[in-house]
Parts: sequence; structure tokens; C-alpha cells
Amino acid sequence: MIEDRMIAPISIYLHFPFCERKCRYCDFLSGPASKEKRDEYVTFLCREIRLRGALFRAPVDTIFLGGGTPSLMTPVQLEKVMETIRDTYNVEHDAEISMEVNPGTADFAKLCAYQGAGINRLSIGVQSFSDDELRLLGRIHTADQAREIFYAARKAGFTNINLDLMSALPGQDPESWSGTLREAVELGPEHISAYSLILEEGTPFAAMFDAGQLPALPSEGEDREMYHFTGEFLAENGYRRYEISNYAREGYVCKHNCGYWTGHEYLGLGLGASSDFGGERFRNPDSMEEYRKAVTEAAEAGTDNPLRCERQKMTPDDRMEEFMFLGLRMTGGVSESEFTRRFGRTLEEVFGEVIRRQLQQGVIRRCCVDEDHRIALTEYGLDVANHVMAEYLL
Ligand code: SF4
Repeated sequence: MIEDRMIAPISIYLHFPFCERKCRYCDFLSGPASKEKRDEYVTFLCREIRLRGALFRAPVDTIFLGGGTPSLMTPVQLEKVMETIRDTYNVEHDAEISMEVNPGTADFAKLCAYQGAGINRLSIGVQSFSDDELRLLGRIHTADQAREIFYAARKAGFTNINLDLMSALPGQDPESWSGTLREAVELGPEHISAYSLILEEGTPFAAMFDAGQLPALPSEGEDREMYHFTGEFLAENGYRRYEISNYAREGYVCKHNCGYWTGHEYLGLGLGASSDFGGERFRNPDSMEEYRKAVTEAAEAGTDNPLRCERQKMTPDDRMEEFMFLGLRMTGGVSESEFTRRFGRTLEEVFGEVIRRQLQQGVIRRCCVDEDHRIALTEYGLDVANHVMAEYLL
């Protein structure tokens, strides 16, 4: 059955599961592959785009090309994907179209081709401006390459650029982190994401840590010191924190990610991509063989059911929990009237007790923006955000 959804726009995430080589800390669904394998993947991805586009005719207001390393794809491969998207979906004329770029895999010519394909926002994976830290992380590029790719992106015409940075690295002290931040600010991107490293189980980093082969991780105190410095330093330089780990100049928040935090529907296309669409959560198969098989079966059957793995119908309780713990990630917090509009119940009715306790503890505060009453994390609440949000599980 064809679902016509002409009113509410959706977001699209496109997954490119290829990397030149795995970084030591990475547990994303990605790995090396030949150009032929990547060509074959594009064929199936385009088939999936057409199939789902025919089933759900939704306008699209944000697109995010992530991975993996989308910039490992050739311009021809990327153009083909973007062309298929535009042929299939009603992409709004001012849609935000972001793409992740690894500085070790792009150059000026590629960046110009991305512009031509309609990409209007780049997210450059810099992580650090210290070559020692980059080597330790197993990144394939140097700090100089990151700077060069930033300048090349400007020259190619990109006016909306994010730099991804990573703190709390083994051996990193507040001084080396502040060096990375200063260099980032000197380049003058519109947006900076600064995440703390997480040692994921099963990664080479976790094994090295267990074997005592990594320099010591920053202490909790140092980690907090770096976090506070980040907020203060970036604010002094015109970047406002709008989410726990994200900072932007006026007018440059990432619309796509804000969509995730505010319950915007999204369709994930490609290997292992997750969706929150039509009242349920699901993800595509995460083995290439299963993915190809599911795309073929789905195209033959005229339904995307074969692609929907780990389906989860979202209950009102699931949605209310999520509204709180994703919404509180944003410094603007959650709106009381929006909660009532979505769920037909007041925040007081559902979470009154938790809210009163957390107000007393000083981890949340009440605020009002344009007569909209809201609840947001305090500075202290940001430090203990995980504990605060866990209390909203029903
Ligand atoms: S480039 Fe990104 S996706 Fe690829 S291995 Fe490194 S961190 Fe993972």
C-alpha cells in the first residue's frame, strides 16, 4: 500500500559503511572494501531508495550522509545516490544536506563535486589537532590534512561546516585539549561537536586498555575540567552550546540532529541504518549479504517488510520517556505545552514527582522562552546528565 504523507516532512539518513581502515576506538558498522564492492552497494542502496520512496511519498527537510566514510565514495557514486534521492523524494528547496568527510579521503575536486551534488553542510572528522593523538586513535590523516581539507571546503564554497572533535583521550591533559579547541576556533567553522571518547567493548582500544598498553585516561575531574573549559571557551568565541556536546554560531544548529532529539520521523537507508517511522522503530539488516537479499525480496514483494529488522512498536510510555531524555539533552530543554499537545497529559501528571525532586537537587530548572514554559538541565545537571535522564524511565 502506498502511504501518502504530504504534510509532515521527514529526515533521511544514508549509511555508507566503508572506511579506508578501522580507527582503533570505532565500533560503527564500517570496514574496508574494494571500489567494485562499493559500486555494488550503491546499486542496492539506490534500489532501496526507490523502493521506499515509492511506498512513502514524504517531503524531506534534512538528509545526512554518514558512515563509515561517505567521502571514500567517488563523486560518480555519490552523485548517483543523490540523484536517486532527488528523483524519488520531494526534497525541500532549503533542505539541510550534510555529509561526513574524513580529511584523509577527500580533496578539492571531490569537495567541488559534493557541492554540485547538492551537499550544503560538511561535517569534518578532525578529532584532534595533535598528530600524536591522531596516531594513537588510528586515524588515517594528520592535523595538517585536516586544516587543508577545511580550507579546500571553504574554497569549494561550503559556508556551513562542522568540525568533529574528541576529548578524554588516553594521555590527553586539559592543555592538549585546549590546544585542539583553539586551533578549531582559529579555523572558524560554523559548528563544533565535541564528544568524549567512549571505550567500546570489542574495539582494539578496549583490548589495549585492558592489557595496560594505553596511556592513562583523564581522571573524572580532568574530564569535567575539559568539559567546562569547552563551554566557556567556545561561548567566548561565539559558539553557543545547544546540546550536551554540540556548539554552533547563531543560525547554524544542525537541523538533522535536532530532529533526532525532538522526535522528528526519520528513515535510515543503507546497511544497518535505523529508522523511527510510522510509529515504529526498526533497522535494516547489518550483514551485506542479508541486506542485498532483503532489498531484492522487498522490491519483488512491493513492501519494505523484509528490510525491517528488530521492529519495535513505540508505546505512549516509550514516547514520553524519549521526549524527556532526548529533549533534556538540548540546553533549551523540553516544553510543557508541547508535552501536553503530543501526549494529552501534563508533565506534572506523568513526571511531577521526579521533576520536584530534581528541582530540589538543582539538576534541572524551570525557564520560559516566549511564554513557553520549559524544563532544562542546569550547569550541574549537565555534569550528571545520564543520571538525571535515567529517572524519566517509566
Ligand atoms: S573513519 Fe569513522 S567510521 Fe571509519 S573507522 Fe574511523 S571512526 Fe569508524
